[in-house]
Amino acid sequence: MTEVKKDIRRCTKEEICSFFILHNVPSFHGKQVYEWLWQKAAIDFDQMTNLSKAHRALLDKHFIINQANIAKVQISNDGTIKNAVLLYDDKVVESVLIPAKNRSTACVSSQVGCSLDCTFCATSQLKRMRNLNPDEIFDQVVMLNKQSIEYFERPLSNIVFMGMGEPMMNYRNVMKAIVKITSPEGLGMSPRRITVSTSGIPKMIKKMADEYPRFKLAVSLHSAIQETRNKIMPFSTSFPLSELQDSIKYWFRKTNAHVTYEYVIWSNINDCEAEIDALVRFCEKTPSKVNLIEYNPMGNDQFIQADKDVIDQYVVALKKSHIPVTVRRSRGKDIDAACGQLANKI
Ligand code: SAH
Repeated sequence: MTEVKKDIRRCTKEEICSFFILHNVPSFHGKQVYEWLWQKAAIDFDQMTNLSKAHRALLDKHFIINQANIAKVQISNDGTIKNAVLLYDDKVVESVLIPAKNRSTACVSSQVGCSLDCTFCATSQLKRMRNLNPDEIFDQVVMLNKQSIEYFERPLSNIVFMGMGEPMMNYRNVMKAIVKITSPEGLGMSPRRITVSTSGIPKMIKKMADEYPRFKLAVSLHSAIQETRNKIMPFSTSFPLSELQDSIKYWFRKTNAHVTYEYVIWSNINDCEAEIDALVRFCEKTPSKVNLIEYNPMGNDQFIQADKDVIDQYVVALKKSHIPVTVRRSRGKDIDAACGQLANKI
């Protein structure tokens, strides 16, 4: 019976070293392989030129490297680039490169589909098919970094987990990937340039505060009134705002860092005074910033972006309470690459 080859990127450094010892090869070669995989993002054993041909052949006999590949690239008229990324099992996720004046932001996916059911988001209609593995998240970053150098002559400056999926529902793999992206044994990027965006899973926010306090946190709030939030983000009936607020307080105590709230304003949903007051009160509890993001329609629309004067009212109220607020223009809308539009329409 032929042995099913294991994906070597699922092995720890220690496991690779032990494999070599088992085959009478000095274990330091394991460390070299690990560096090739995570520091130099090698996708073929033949790239590992400081290993002898025999050692490379030994690896090839027992392992594979399942690499994610770009299946389709679309470029928006504002420069945003959307990639359809093909995974080893023919599933597809989307990763977006967003250039700005002095920065390049990678927007990466954490799941195929999504575990949650936000009614305004195209990804939620796909349902969750599976979690991405750490290497599949890592590959998106490597790809987007190459693309950023190729198109904009600079490496990635920021990474946001705002692609497909809920990162906190794939916590372990997302964190493993970020560790590979930030550690000196990996790509060595600064943890402060990485934002994990969650729709608000309190238990996991606390866990991240305990384990990875250096990464940045964004919470997709969209309403600080429970009843409204239950309607637009039905899962939140199980994760009440009071618990979310507690977890954010905990986050602040542990990290001393602010939280960014993502917030879309829709007419007849959250465009009234009571919603504005509730948001201000919610934000006052811990140091926060608010990003008011433009709504990106996703077809059959019961959601309509609120008028500019309502957005202005939000801005005035937040500023009055000294809460930093930014009104975000949407990027890549023409190619369905904007927030909430990622749905594998390839
Ligand atoms: N699940 C994570 C990350 C993915 S969504 C989260 O909820 O944070 C990335 C951001 O896009 C979230 O803030 C989400 O609320 C927002 N979003 C989803 N659908 C949108 C839409 N149609 N228009 C604008 N923003 C949307």
